[in-house]
Formats: sequence, structure tokens, C-alpha cells
Amino acid sequence: MGRASPKPAAPASCIFCEIGQHRAPAYVVYEDTETMAFLDIFPFTRGHLLVIPKRHAPRLTDLPFPDQATLLRSVDVLCRRAERLTSDYNVALNAGANAGQIVFHVHFHVIPRYGEPNPFLAASRAPLKVRDAEELVTTLSAP
Ligand code: 5GP
Ligand code: ZN
Repeated sequence: MGRASPKPAAPASCIFCEIGQHRAPAYVVYEDTETMAFLDIFPFTRGHLLVIPKRHAPRLTDLPFPDQATLLRSVDVLCRRAERLTSDYNVALNAGANAGQIVFHVHFHVIPRYGEPNPFLAASRAPLKVRDAEELVTTLSAP
């Protein structure tokens, strides 16, 4: 009888594991050994980005506490960088389908806010454009 592994097994295909391991493309703006941040492919606002642990975990509470702390440190880095675009932003985490989670690899959203009343509507979203993404990578990836 083995002990339960503390590391949730990644599903056969997890797009954020693929991005974290550079096996799928993304506009990466931050990376360290344990975490990564990249632009959301379908942003609510300009500069909407996602911060992930490279280690697979469906939700925050599936991560050991030290990994949670490491992830939050990267969220702090990306919040500061988001302030290069605008002073205000939302940080969000969706846990579970009923809370709107679509990708079951834990991620924090950092969503810059420019004064729009409510950007969290399907109608507010447009696919990320290559030219804008490249500009954003330049702005957000500088240390
Ligand atoms: P959730 O609803 O799970 O909190 O958010 C998942 C987010 O991931 C969504 O905002 C969605 O646009 C984004 N997303 C889904 N697939 C991809 C992808 O392949 N690449 C990138 N960059 N973002 C993705
Ligand atoms: Zn994963």
C-alpha cells in the first residue's frame, strides 16, 4: 500500500502543462523554474494575463503550501508589471466549473482595468491580436 502522491497527476493533455513546458506556444511574459505567466489568448482587457505553476494541479488547494506561496510571489511580480499598462487591475481565480473554470490547471488571472464598467462579458472578449501581443510582451516581460 503506497502513500497517496502529493502531486496530482496531470491529465493526458493539459494545455497549461504544455505551455509551461514550452511544448505549446504562448506569449510568455515571465518565467522562473516553478512558474510562468503568459497572455490570455482571449483577453477580457488589454494585457489580461495568466500566472501558472509549472507543476500540474487542478486548483490552488491541490498545491502544497510552499508552491502556493511561490505562485503568489509570481502573481505579485505580474501585478507590478501590469501597472505599467494601467494603475488598476483585477486578480481572479476560478475554482471549479460552477465558478467558471475552463482550464483545470490552476491559474490566476491578472486583468488590467482602464475604466470600462464591466469587461467580464463574453461580448467584451476578442481574440488576442499578434501585433498587440508582441507589444505587450515587450512591455510586460522587461524585469
Ligand atoms: P478559466 O475560466 O479556466 O479561469 O480561464 C481559462 C483562461 O485560459 C481563459 O481566459 C481562456 O481564454 C484562456 N485560455 C484557454 N486556452 C488557452 C490557450 O491555449 N492559450 C492561452 N494563452 N490562453 C488560453
Ligand atoms: Zn496541467
